[in-house]
This record gives sequence, C-alpha cells and structure tokens, in this order.
Amino acid sequence: MHESTNQTDCLIIGGGIMGLTLASLIKELDSSIKIDLYEKLHDIGLESSEALNNAGTGHAGYCELNYTPMGKDGKMNIQKALEINSKYEITLQYWSYLSRKYKSFDPKKFIQRTPHISLVFGDQHIDFLKKRYLLLKKHHLFKSIKFSHNRKEISQWANLTMIGRNPHQKVAATIVKEGTDIDFGAATKALLSTLKNKKDFQIHLNQEILTIKEVKSNLWEVSVKNNISGDIKKTFAKFIFIGAGGHAIRLLQKTGIHEQKGYAGFPVSGQWLVCSNKKIVRQHNAKVYGMAPEGSPPMSVPHLDLRIINGKKTLLFGPYAGFTFKFLKTGSYLDLIKSLKLKNFFPMIYVLAHNWKLFNYLIRESFQSKHSRMDLLKNFYPEAKEKDWSIKIAGQRVQIIKPSSSITGKLEFGTEVLVSKNKKLAALLGASPGASVAVDSMIKVIEQCFSERLLESRFKNKMKELIPSYGQDLITNRRLLEKIRLSSHKTLGIKD
Ligand SMILES: Cc1cc2nc3c(=O)[nH]c(=O)nc-3n(C[C@H](O)[C@H](O)[C@H](O)COP(=O)(O)OP(=O)(O)OC[C@H]3O[C@@H](n4cnc5c(N)ncnc54)[C@H](O)[C@@H]3O)c2cc1C
Repeated sequence: MHESTNQTDCLIIGGGIMGLTLASLIKELDSSIKIDLYEKLHDIGLESSEALNNAGTGHAGYCELNYTPMGKDGKMNIQKALEINSKYEITLQYWSYLSRKYKSFDPKKFIQRTPHISLVFGDQHIDFLKKRYLLLKKHHLFKSIKFSHNRKEISQWANLTMIGRNPHQKVAATIVKEGTDIDFGAATKALLSTLKNKKDFQIHLNQEILTIKEVKSNLWEVSVKNNISGDIKKTFAKFIFIGAGGHAIRLLQKTGIHEQKGYAGFPVSGQWLVCSNKKIVRQHNAKVYGMAPEGSPPMSVPHLDLRIINGKKTLLFGPYAGFTFKFLKTGSYLDLIKSLKLKNFFPMIYVLAHNWKLFNYLIRESFQSKHSRMDLLKNFYPEAKEKDWSIKIAGQRVQIIKPSSSITGKLEFGTEVLVSKNKKLAALLGASPGASVAVDSMIKVIEQCFSERLLESRFKNKMKELIPSYGQDLITNRRLLEKIRLSSHKTLGIKD
C-alpha cells in the first residue's frame, strides 16, 4: 500500500544509463517497490549516455593505457585494469540475463564486438606496452591479448594507422579481439523497454527536479518543474537516487546532507573529429587507443574508433578535452559558479593550484583550431585529410573534487557512489569508467540502501540469477570467469 498518490518508494532523478539501470535492477529484485523516474528532457538517454556524447567503449582495460600506470619505482600496476575488466563482466552478465528474459532487450541494437587495440610509437612507449602485455597476458581476464611490432600484422588489425607512416618510425600494438563498442543511449532505451509496462513504475519526461528537502525522518519533499507548462508541484519519496549526470553535484548540494559538504565539480568538455568519407569509414574496424598527450586528463586519451550507431558505421577521433563552465551539455554557463559554496571553495582553490598544468592544458585545448586537431589525428592516421573530418561536440564530464580537510581537496577521475548517513539518499558522481560499470555502481547503491532486503535469502538468490558471479571475485576465480564469460559473451554476440 502506498500512502499517497504523490508519494513514492523510490524517486530516481535522471533518465541516463545509471537511472535506468537502477530502476531495472530494483524491479527485477522486488517488483512491489514503487519507482518514479524524472527526466528533465523530452526523452531518456540524451545527455552523456547518448551515443555520440561518449566514446562508446565497453571499458574492460584491454586498450586503455592509463589503467596500467607505471610507478616511480619502474613497476607497473595492473590492478585498475583487472578491477575494471571484472566490473565490466558484471554489466555483461546483467545484460545477458535481460536479453534472455525480454525480447525487447535486443543486444544487437546496442553492443557490437569491436577489437580493442593499443598503438604506440618509439622505444620508450614500446617498452611500456610490452611490459603491460606480459603482465596482463598472465592473468585469466586478459588471456586473449596479443602483441605485435610487425607492421604487416598491425595493418591487418588497423590498416588506416599504418598507410603512409614513416617506415623508420618504430611501432607496436596489442589487440583483444573480443572488445566491444556500445551505444549507451540505445542501451538506456532498451532498459526502459523492459520497465515500461511494469506495475508501479512511472517515467515522467520534461520534468525537472528543482529542490530536495528532508521533511521528516525517512521522507523527502521534492519540487518538480514541468518544463512544458512551467508549473511547479511537490512530490514525496522515501528514497532518492540522484543520477543526474554532471548536474548531480548541484542537486546534492540542495539536499543539505552532511556527506556532500566540501564536494565540488570540475567540468571537462569534449570534442570529436567525425569522418564523413564512407570509403575511409569502411576501412576501419577497431578502437585504437594510444598514449595520453602530456598534461591531459587520464580519461581523455584520444582514440580512433569504429562506432556503430543505429546499425550505421561511423568513424570518430577524440575526445579532445577542454575547459567549460557547464555541468551538462544542456546545462548553464553559471553551473560552475553556482556550485561554489563556502565549504568547497578552499578545496576547489587547493585543487586548482595543485593541478595548474591540467587546468592550463584544458584552457589551451579549448582554443585549438581544427587544423591543429588534425595534427593529433595524423599521429594515428597519417593520411587523414581535413576535408573528410568535421568537429562535433561530445558530452560533459564533471570530475569530483573531494575534500580532504576544510581547506584541501583532491581531484578524482573515477566514478563514485555517495550515500547519506541514513541510507535514504544516494548519488552517482564522476564519469569514468562510467557507463561500462553502471551495473556494478548501481548494485553498490542497492547494497548500501536496500541492505535489509538483500539480507533475505530470496533476494540474494534473485541477485545470483541476475548476476551469476554475485558475491564472488572474478579477479581470483579463473574457472568462474571462464564459465560466465563464455555464457554472457555468447548471448550478447561478442564471441566468434
Ligand atoms: C566525452 C565522453 C566520453 C565518454 N566515454 C565513455 C566510454 O567510452 N565508455 C563508458 O563506459 N563511459 C564513457 N563516458 C561516461 C559515460 O557517458 C557516463 O558515465 C554515463 O553516460 C553517465 O550516465 P548517467 O546516467 O549518470 O548520466 P547522463 O546520461 O548524463 O544522464 C543524466 C540525466 O539526468 C537528467 N537530469 C539532469 N538534471 C536533472 C534534473 N534536475 N531533473 C531531472 N533530470 C535531470 C539529464 O537530462 C540526463 O538525461 C564518457 C563520457 C563523456 C562525456
């Protein structure tokens, strides 16, 4: 029984991949929980989750060189690559479960097998790649990775990267053939297709959440603006998830909860070069990542990517990171200024002072001409011609600035779930590895905020039905990984 028609058990803010993943998981676990999802735009999946607003990489650590950093002692740390790979397998398990259960959740519409390649030049970077390959190859998660410094072989993997290249330049590459390209916007819509006809699930489009206030213990009052009529109404919720992408930090500040104090956002914009020449697009069938340009943020390593969007092949290069004041693509230039509060002002200044090189890089990058952007592309594809490429704006990333004291802070590049002390409100902050690990992130929300339900054995069993590896570690359990990978990759069409 629900106390009032404008009261819900679970109010989700944001119709991106995170909000829809949470709604889907909760409904699969317990269909009696009433969910209301609010999205300020006319449709879901139009901000960061939209296909061309992100890079569509199923982040598994196969090609992203920043996931295996080299320590000052010359030792490479592969832990992050292992963690991201195993978290991505959780997403794949859940998607396989949904695609077996619902006809409308058709993986062909959003996930494609696309080889993941890392390509480097020069002795120093080749040494790095070789070391990385030797360490990863030993681990069951990366068993299929291959290394080559043979130009002929690399041409077969990614022809465009080798034609016209200086024959004296030293090159090396690794490949994992069962990498993936994902249209996260289409995945978001596929999730909605499984929820649409469910009892006690309602989606509210063109409805923007303005304020969030705790009115009594275990009850939130939320004001919602209808973006068509301009009307504002009040609604109530027992639990709130803020999945508002870059805007999450601003909404969190409105809740007044203690846990968000001192947090700030550091927005990073993005641009792509998109190839319009079909002859060239047809020649490229992989995602090719390289080394990050010096001074750039780690998640903004440009790459030359085959994308498959609505069944159509597209070739993208980027993202080129830059500085912006906006927290969403559809946001306001006042976002950053309005997010400054007494509690986060000094941590923000501290982070800017200690990341001056990064800040400087982003500002310089924002003013780069198309011509100079082409120079970076030519490192990957030497014969690229300016006339074949046009600039497109990518989505916004808002990195987290976390307070470490009242006057110091730390810039974080990960994805973080923040939960209020009473477990009645959670928010997702940060943007990398982002959408690929949406299922793992949303399970964390459920584990922390619906823990009493998960203690019941029927929910634990149900969770195992959704995610067969639930509660076990794929990094250490080789047999389990091989079993679940075989099954989910087959269901999703990633296997040969
Ligand atoms: C350039 C770029 C490249 C990326 N590449 C990758 C990649 O290759 N692989 C990967 O896994 N991830 C990638 N990411 C990250 C990934 O796109 C995000 O982590 C993911 O899409 C975030 O999903 P979300 O649901 O949290 O946010 P979003 O998709 O942004 O959804 C948030 C939603 O909330 C709505 N909203 C905001 N405020 C309100 C409000 N007040 N009321 C109601 N609704 C509101 C917005 O309109 C939006 O629809 C990339 C991101 C960027 C920007």
